[in-house]
Amino acid sequence: MSVLPSTHPSTHSTRHATRPAASPCGGGSAAPAVRTRALHAVPESAGESAAGSDTAAQALPTVIGAGLRVPTLRGETAYANLDHAASTPALETVRTAVDRALETYSSVHRGAGFASRLTSAWYEQARTEVADFVGAREGDSVVFTRTTTDSWALLSKALPSRTTVFVFGSEHHSTLLPWGRFRTVRLPVPQTLDDAYALLDEALSAHRSRHRLVVIAAASNVTGEVWPVRRFARLAHEHGARIAVDAAQLSAHRRIDLAAWDADYVAFSGHKTYAPYGAGVLAGRSDWLDAGAPYLFGGGATRAVTEEGTAWATGPARHEGGSPNVIGAVALAAACATIRRHADAIEAHETRLLERLRSGLAEVPGVEVLSIFGDDSDRVGVVAFTVDGWDSALVSQVLSVEHGIGVRDGKFCAHLLVDELLEDPWGERPVTAVRASIGLGSTLEGVDRLVTAVAGLVEHGTAATWSRTEAGWHVEGADPRDVEVERPW
Ligand code: PMP
Repeated sequence: MSVLPSTHPSTHSTRHATRPAASPCGGGSAAPAVRTRALHAVPESAGESAAGSDTAAQALPTVIGAGLRVPTLRGETAYANLDHAASTPALETVRTAVDRALETYSSVHRGAGFASRLTSAWYEQARTEVADFVGAREGDSVVFTRTTTDSWALLSKALPSRTTVFVFGSEHHSTLLPWGRFRTVRLPVPQTLDDAYALLDEALSAHRSRHRLVVIAAASNVTGEVWPVRRFARLAHEHGARIAVDAAQLSAHRRIDLAAWDADYVAFSGHKTYAPYGAGVLAGRSDWLDAGAPYLFGGGATRAVTEEGTAWATGPARHEGGSPNVIGAVALAAACATIRRHADAIEAHETRLLERLRSGLAEVPGVEVLSIFGDDSDRVGVVAFTVDGWDSALVSQVLSVEHGIGVRDGKFCAHLLVDELLEDPWGERPVTAVRASIGLGSTLEGVDRLVTAVAGLVEHGTAATWSRTEAGWHVEGADPRDVEVERPW
């Protein structure tokens, strides 16, 4: 076993201050004094060809399970993964980094042993990698959470009392709902970006409390449409408000840049960023985070505990009570490093597939693609659509069972938005949609298969016989997915 991995140094510069590792429960020694020469990077080598060269950066990183074959009614076929907006597969580089980190896995911030110091150093280096990934500024905090939902729960606990929160009805429930303790100004689903801008401008003029927070998604999980964060950040700041950006649907596809956006906070999830190891991130201005209530009371979050009271730590440690998810952090850092390195290739791949998907679906009669701002909006690879006369739940079951395609159906935890986009005064249209979403696990063949399958459904109906039961749609005969598979453990 090689204890000190010899990887190439990270090529990214660091624009922010990193916090020294927290001392154990507020006492004892501080930062681990492990030589950093060998600790530069969360390892990034597998899953790419000719690492280090420009050619490698132009190649697409490999995801685990890319060759997955799945059972269908017509026999086994390659899995067409069009469900990245829900969760992405893991990157090979993530698995490599995790495997390597597990070789010396030990406690974080608590041990004097070599393995503990190494693990602790890696945890903080993962923070640095993530800080670079989000374009953090000097003094910003990067807190490891579990998910985007968790990040907003944390931020909502740390907001100053009597903050007013401004949020559009188009948001995912995780971003729409956690502000219940605060006065919340719910803005309607806008028709255009200018409309959104005007609605927010008006609302910020009308509600003038001392602390105000605007919350917007950088990309919609229903339509994939990208919001111009910089423009909305400028507006918020002109009114003296702060802005928090939900980057759950952006992190795997486009650059997050707190500094360039001039945004105050950003949140995203590892499981949507090719690192499904239970870590997410909240990054941004440290003042409210340092003054607000610690998210998790406990070990690691304190500076001193006496009979008289508790002095809580500041910095990320304040909100990371308990033993941190170091493997999740390493996984996420590895994903961030890989995504940054291959950003152009990733965008080119996804743009190609998205264009093919959208143009293909546009040709199918009765298919309607959902959109907030219209056809020409900038978007990531998320396409929600309805098929005239077909229940979306059946469409997604047919795509899976008859064609081996993975998509979602429903309202995607954005009920207000989907209800608004599918609004039908005559009650003749479906109330849910199908969502196909693209990522590194998607192929052109998978996209073409989806388009052909939907066209076939419209033209000829289903291949199998389906009936609706209380539990949902049921295919006559044996569902090919009901197979015995060995447990992975
Ligand atoms: N925001 C958006 C835009 C999302 O798409 C999602 C997940 N669908 C979330 C927030 C919540 O993410 P998580 O489930 O990882 O907390």
